[in-house]
Amino acid sequence: MSKMKVAILGATGMVGQQFVRLLDGHPQFEVCALAASDRSEGQAYSDACSWRVSADMPAAVRSLRVQACEPQAASGCDLVFSALPGSMAGPVELAFAAAGYPVSSNASSFRMAPDVPLLIPEVNPDHLALIDVQRRQRGWEHGFIVTNPNCTVNALALALRPLHDSFGLSKVMVITMQALSGAGYPGVPSLDSLDNVMPYIGGEESKVESEPRRLLGRLEGGRVHEAEFAISAQCNRVATRDGHLESVSVAFDRLASVEEVKQALRDFSGLPQELGLASAPQPVIVVREEPDRPQPALDRNTGDGMAVVVGRVRPCAVLDIKFTLLGHNTVRGAAGAAILNAELLAAQGYLG
Ligand code: NAP
Repeated sequence: MSKMKVAILGATGMVGQQFVRLLDGHPQFEVCALAASDRSEGQAYSDACSWRVSADMPAAVRSLRVQACEPQAASGCDLVFSALPGSMAGPVELAFAAAGYPVSSNASSFRMAPDVPLLIPEVNPDHLALIDVQRRQRGWEHGFIVTNPNCTVNALALALRPLHDSFGLSKVMVITMQALSGAGYPGVPSLDSLDNVMPYIGGEESKVESEPRRLLGRLEGGRVHEAEFAISAQCNRVATRDGHLESVSVAFDRLASVEEVKQALRDFSGLPQELGLASAPQPVIVVREEPDRPQPALDRNTGDGMAVVVGRVRPCAVLDIKFTLLGHNTVRGAAGAAILNAELLAAQGYLG
C-alpha cells in the first residue's frame, strides 16, 4: 500500500526534528514537505537545521528545501504535522485546515477550543467525534485540526486515566522537574540552567491544571464536559536534557491500596494497543519497583519513548497515594503523540 504524504511545520525545531526521526521508515507516513520560519526558508533542510537528535539525519530529508508555512507548502500532502510555537501556530494551522488539510498539532493554540479534539489515543479516542462538529461549525469539508496535550500533561493524563476509571479522582497535586529540551532550541541559556533549578515555566502550570480535566472529560451533546477533580501544579525547569519527571499525589473517591493502584496502572491499555497502531507502546505504563526509579537518564526511552514509567507508588499522608512518573517530552509529549494521533485518525477513516 502506498504511504500517505505528510508535511511538517516547524520542522527545524526540537519537536520538528523528532518528527523527522520518528517518521523515517514509518509504515504509513512519508515526509514530503518541510516548513519553518523565513530564517530557514529556501535552504536545504540539512543546512537550515541545527540537528540535535542523536540518530543521524535521515538521508531522504537532507536535501528537501524548507518552505514557508503556507498551505501551498503541503500541496499533494495528505496530512500536516505542526510543531510551530504556540504564539503563531493558530492562524497558520487555521489556514492549512481551511485549505483542506488534516492538521495534527503539538501547539497550544487550539487545545482548549470547544470543537477541537485534545487527544491521547489511549485516554479519550471518542473525542475524535468533535471533528464532525468542527467541520460543521467552521464550514470545512476536508480539513480539520486535532491537537495533543502539553508535554507534561501527556504522561500525567496517561497515568490518571486508569486511576480515575478504577477509583475516581478527587484531587491531584503535581510537582514537575522538566527537561531543557522542553523549552525548544536553543532554549534556556546555559548560565540560567547549569547549577540551577528555575521554579517557573511561563504558562505551564495553567496548562497542567486545565488539560487533564478536558482529556478525562465526557463527550456528550457535541461538547466535552470536563472531569471534576481538583488539580494543582508546580512546574520547575531542571538541567536534564530529555524526559519530564513528575511527583504526583492523588486523592480518590474510593479507597485504594498501593497494590491496587499499581495493578490498575500495569493493566492499562487502550484502543491503539487493540488496533496494533505502529507507535503504540505495549505496555502503556511500566511500573518499576526499585526505590530510585524512574530516572530521566535511565528510563526516558522506555517503549521507544512512548511509554510512561511510574515508580515509588506509596501512601501519601496528606492525600491517598503518591508516586513518581516520567515521560519523554519530545516523543510521548510531542512528536510521538501527534504521530500516534495521526495513526488513530488513519485507522478511523479520517485521512485520505
Ligand atoms: P523550537 O525548537 O523553538 O522550534 C520552533 C520551530 O518553529 C522551528 O522550526 C522554527 O523555525 C519554527 N518557527 C518559529 N517561528 C516561526 C515563524 N514565525 N514562522 C514559521 N515558523 C516558525 O520549539 P519546539 O520545542 O520544537 O516546540 C514546537 C512546538 O511544540 C511549540 O508549540 C511547543 O510548545 C510544542 N511542544 C514542545 C515540546 C518540547 O518538549 N519541546 C513538547 C510538547 C509541545 P526556524 O528554525 O526557521 O526558526
